[in-house]
Amino acid sequence: MSALLGAIEAGGTKFVCAASNRGEILAQTRIPTRGPDATLAAAQQFFEAVMAEHGELSALGIAAFGPLDLRETSPTFGRLLGTPKHGWAGTDLVAPFARRFGCPVVIDTDVNAAALAETLHGAARGCRTAVYVTVGTGIGGGVVVDGRSLRGSPHPEMGHIRVARHERDTAFAGVCPFHGDCLEGLASGAAIRARWGRAAEELYGDEAVWDLVAEYLALGVVNVVCALSPQRVVIGGGVLEAPGLIERIRARTPALLAGYISAPAVTDEIDRYIVVPGLGRLAGVAGALVLAERAAVAALERAL
Ligand code: ZN
Repeated sequence: MSALLGAIEAGGTKFVCAASNRGEILAQTRIPTRGPDATLAAAQQFFEAVMAEHGELSALGIAAFGPLDLRETSPTFGRLLGTPKHGWAGTDLVAPFARRFGCPVVIDTDVNAAALAETLHGAARGCRTAVYVTVGTGIGGGVVVDGRSLRGSPHPEMGHIRVARHERDTAFAGVCPFHGDCLEGLASGAAIRARWGRAAEELYGDEAVWDLVAEYLALGVVNVVCALSPQRVVIGGGVLEAPGLIERIRARTPALLAGYISAPAVTDEIDRYIVVPGLGRLAGVAGALVLAERAAVAALERAL
């Protein structure tokens, strides 16, 4: 059997494609996300070129933006659901690759895949339960329990949890097209730009900005801690590059928990509880490779 694995991190601005063999990355590329037909065709061409040189793919893992239909018995399994990304709603991300390459193709959300990679190789290594949150243009979160990502109906959507309004923040409506002032609507990169009229990095050093952003993100962490009780919270994304932001989130989370959860992890060890990603921007594609490897092993077990 071939040991060649393929991975795609399918994002709203770029598709990162990689191929590996026994842990060694043989090829990788970044494809700007255009319409679905052109983007998927470019990804297929990348893997065809890899296969021409290295042989057949044994499995392909896809870590995709969402929302996604991840119910394997569903007639629309592997399709993007009502994404606001223009032209992509209803796009099947699995079948075109499965038909073309004839190998197992597995899919999960980009943040679930990143959470998986972080528990295996990154900042949550050794944790049985962990949450990965990314704060960029939008906000997303993935959950891992005992080495498996959490899926349901269809999968966690932590960006859209509801948080209490800060008492001095009543005028801004929020930017979420569905909810207005959910977490993403109040504290994402898009929300920062809409609220203050400038990109996050142009606001570095403005204490009032980052106190408010940290307050909402800490409320998000509080909700996650109360709902899931993870052993670690990994939080990254472009907005977290703001100097001092993670320290503010660490300071506010125990304060907002207000002593109700008094486990040492969230009181005395908060610096080790709320952490930055260990894999940086590679977490998504690394997670897709984990999915591919598991699918290849499962196919081998079925064949033996
Ligand atoms: Zn929302």
